[in-house]
Amino acid sequence: MTDDRDSTVNTMSATDAAGSGPAVARTRAELQAARAELGDGDVAVVMTMGALHEGHSTLIRRARADARHVIVTVFLNPLQFGPREDLSRYPRTVDADMELCRREGVDLVFLPTPDVIYPDGDPGVRVSAGPLGDVLEGQARPGHFDGVLTVVGKLLHLTGADVSYYGQKDAQQLLLIRRMARDLDFPVEVISVPTVREADGLAMSSRNMYLTESDRETALCLSRALRAGAAAANEGPSAVRRAARAVLVGEPLALIDYLVLVHPSTLEDVPEWYRGEALLAVAGRVGTTRLIDNFPVNVGPGGGALEVFSDGAGRNGGPPGHTGSASPQSPRR
Ligand code: AMP
Repeated sequence: MTDDRDSTVNTMSATDAAGSGPAVARTRAELQAARAELGDGDVAVVMTMGALHEGHSTLIRRARADARHVIVTVFLNPLQFGPREDLSRYPRTVDADMELCRREGVDLVFLPTPDVIYPDGDPGVRVSAGPLGDVLEGQARPGHFDGVLTVVGKLLHLTGADVSYYGQKDAQQLLLIRRMARDLDFPVEVISVPTVREADGLAMSSRNMYLTESDRETALCLSRALRAGAAAANEGPSAVRRAARAVLVGEPLALIDYLVLVHPSTLEDVPEWYRGEALLAVAGRVGTTRLIDNFPVNVGPGGGALEVFSDGAGRNGGPPGHTGSASPQSPRR
């Protein structure tokens, strides 16, 4: 077991590692030492649970473009998994993850075990996600967002990051992290990155590894439903919901948990008169795998899919299914 109080530091510095890969820290002491070696300039963090794919790479590239130093955390956070969820079978691909980080020019990878993050075991004090954490994913996964926000808060403190990157793919998580940073005065910028998809529209996810070939075919109904809903956006909310639902009912092998069109900051169903930005989100089980997906949409005349919400920083429109690497010149959102 890793002794986190061990002051022996055996990290490679970012400079020593030039060309050969990122520094690796497994303990708090190693993280602090490696963090200190990064030197001047702003630090970006991309938090992951490993089994990295092109979605994660896109976050890292965006961080790389914006900040001087990039830290990636790879931590399978037990706090955010329910007792009947997939923690024990969650894919672990550390070597491939390290290789991806090397390719993407990451400076430092923090790879802690649970006892490093939670040295006293299950933390008695957690961040509460509040009511926004009880709906949609939170309803299906009670306590999930308290677990997410607790670890995100800890990792922001431990890495001392100035800026952090999250995928629109996990829209409710992104919203809650934004709220936490604002409500609890975390001195960090929270930046969203559009969902990265496979060529056929399936949102990339570490959990896609669980899908059989036929599951994967079935899973395409989620993004097809979102696309159909977005295409009806100029006719108003009920047309969006109807169009999306029509696709899902045609695929009985996908067990849909919810399909909603909600306000992007309250997550409440938008009424029929509503015009403006909304989140069309879907979750369901395909085979043994629970999948989620969403499209930000603009509802009303001239409406359709948005790549990301405008968030007061200008809209970054683009076609649904776009691979989502935010344009390098786009402002931080
Ligand atoms: P995870 O490892 O699944 O916890 O994801 C780590 C980060 O990558 C989160 O901010 C996710 O929202 C983001 N992410 C995962 N999949 C995608 C994707 N397909 N497109 C964009 N971001 C993603």
